This record gives sequence, C-alpha cells and structure tokens, in this order.
Amino acid sequence: MIRLTRAPDLMLGQHWVNLLEQAGIACRLSGCYLQGAAGELPVDQCGPDLWLEREQDKELAMRIIEGRAGPGEPRPHWCCDGCGEWLEPQFSTCWQCGAARPVGRHG
Ligand SMILES: [Zn+2]
Repeated sequence: MIRLTRAPDLMLGQHWVNLLEQAGIACRLSGCYLQGAAGELPVDQCGPDLWLEREQDKELAMRIIEGRAGPGEPRPHWCCDGCGEWLEPQFSTCWQCGAARPVGRHG
C-alpha cells in the first residue's frame, strides 16, 4: 500500500476511488473517520487519504485524478518520448531533453 494523495473532501475522494476502480486500479480511502486498517497513519492526518494497493499504478492514478476528476478541462500529465520523463500538463516541451509534447497524446 502506498499513499497517493489527499482528497480535499470525502465526496471527491470517493469519486476518485470510483474512477480508479473503473480503471482497474485497486485503491481505498482512509482517514480518522474510517475505522480499521489505518494503524500506520499518524494521528494528526485526518483527511481522506487515497491509498493504492500497487505502487506501479501511481502515475496512472495521478493522471486519472488530475485529468478527469478535477475541475476544468482534462489536462493529463504526459510522458516524454525522448527520455520518458513525466511532465506537468502545462508544459509543451520536455524540461529535461527539450523534446516537444507528442501531438494528440494522452498518456
Ligand atoms: Zn524528455
């Protein structure tokens, strides 16, 4: 289990879980309002944290959350063809190797 991110509220957190499960990503929410399976959480972390079963799902999960679950138009992260770097959606070229963002690429 790895912690992916914290949802701003429970409803959005549950929405994220639904989206990820539809994508075949095993995940769960945890927080102080949920009992059990939270023994590893520091007591001061009470937000609805989103946890993934498999660490290798992390990048895809973040893309799903940021690209489809947030406000505004979908703006997924993208992967550089030149060096494999993952880049923020606002960049049109790779900061690492300078390659242009692939046209029509959505991950
Ligand atoms: Zn690159």
